[in-house]
Amino acid sequence: MEAADNILELIGNTPLVKSHKLAANVKANIYYKVEYLNPGSSVKDRPALQIVLDAEESGELQPGGTIIEATSGNTGMGLALAAAIKGYKCIFVMPDKMSAEKIESLRAFGARVVVCPTAVEPDDPRSYYSVARRLAEETPGGFLANQYNNPSNPKGHYLSTGPEIWEQTNGEVDAVVIGAGTGGTVSGIGRYLKEQNPDVQIVAVDPIGSIYYDYFKTGKITEASTYLVEGFGEDIIPGTMDFDVVDEVVRVDDRECFLTARRLVREEGIYTGGSAGGAVAGAIKYAERMDKEMNIVVIIPDSASRYLSKIFNDDWMRENGFLEEDWNEDVVADLLATKT
Ligand code: PMP
Repeated sequence: MEAADNILELIGNTPLVKSHKLAANVKANIYYKVEYLNPGSSVKDRPALQIVLDAEESGELQPGGTIIEATSGNTGMGLALAAAIKGYKCIFVMPDKMSAEKIESLRAFGARVVVCPTAVEPDDPRSYYSVARRLAEETPGGFLANQYNNPSNPKGHYLSTGPEIWEQTNGEVDAVVIGAGTGGTVSGIGRYLKEQNPDVQIVAVDPIGSIYYDYFKTGKITEASTYLVEGFGEDIIPGTMDFDVVDEVVRVDDRECFLTARRLVREEGIYTGGSAGGAVAGAIKYAERMDKEMNIVVIIPDSASRYLSKIFNDDWMRENGFLEEDWNEDVVADLLATKT
């Protein structure tokens, strides 16, 4: 029988796919590391599993316990997958800007989902960080996965994503471009690859409104403003973000994230979301600036299916000012009504 014993065994070993159309005007080869092909449809399956394995080993997570986490959705999916196989309960706390698809997919796993306001300070008792912390204290058998400070988060990438990139490129990777949220992906991959070859450039991508870019440039913590793209950028500097392995931070705005995500789906069949759009837009800007032959790997964190009501909904895009084309139902109706 060629069968996995359970779905968790299929986490990782995602493919690299060469970019053709979006990278057409740069000298670099750009490769997509397609993380939405993980069983929970995102890059966060890897750290989620590592967090659960390490907490079982340390005894922080006991049989029949409850996993609690503040999550933009994807870490929750990874934790819920592990919980399903291993028999834990889950409570997830999410900011209210997250898509309905993400909330519903967590509920599909039987998780309890608590939705909190996005536009409050991180130390406000209503913030999703604070609510998750309080729930973990008050729930018997509760274990806070704590992806923002848990070293198992970058470790998951240090042990799997980093080595995969090194092997898949035969060590000929020159740069990796990664949207930074908790920083687990960029820090774990960065640390592993720099140990193999310190010249590999690690480029973090940051949405405008997040504090990473300014912090990287000036060392100062500025105030965040809200932005629409989900899953990356932060209003805090998490313990899991290791700027020592970051060579550059490239900024992108919501429009670039969303329009590039739509191009990825339509032109390359890469069925992904806004943070991948941002990472690819950032990679192209970086490649334009470098203007030389090189191999760039871009992390494609999650799936378009999580954003059908937003990025891939023309009305939502138009309402938010991201689509300028005037192809809408009224125009179609007028055209159909026009007699020739
Ligand atoms: N993109 C998406 C869609 C995500 O959910 C996340 C995780 N929050 C990231 C990018 C960033 O990954 P990390 O937390 O490892 O920095």
